[in-house]
Amino acid sequence: MPRAICAKCAVEMEIEKNDFSVKDVAMNTIWRNFPATVWFGDKYKCPKCDWEVVIGFGSGMEDTDDTYKADLVFDNNFVR
Ligand SMILES: [Zn+2]
Repeated sequence: MPRAICAKCAVEMEIEKNDFSVKDVAMNTIWRNFPATVWFGDKYKCPKCDWEVVIGFGSGMEDTDDTYKADLVFDNNFVR
């Protein structure tokens, strides 16, 4: 499991949620009918300043449809 350190506070960040789902809709926007994809990472939070990051994505992804309710929608073409 990855570890994260808050660069602002210099403390180790705490795990908030494993298998945090991020739905990448950019491919679906660029090429119509290309399915949105969902990636799973780990969400960490700094105990001092509450800064949050999602890291530790594996190589796996799942095609999905537009009805999937992900924890976060990311519209920046994760695959490029
Ligand atoms: Zn911090």
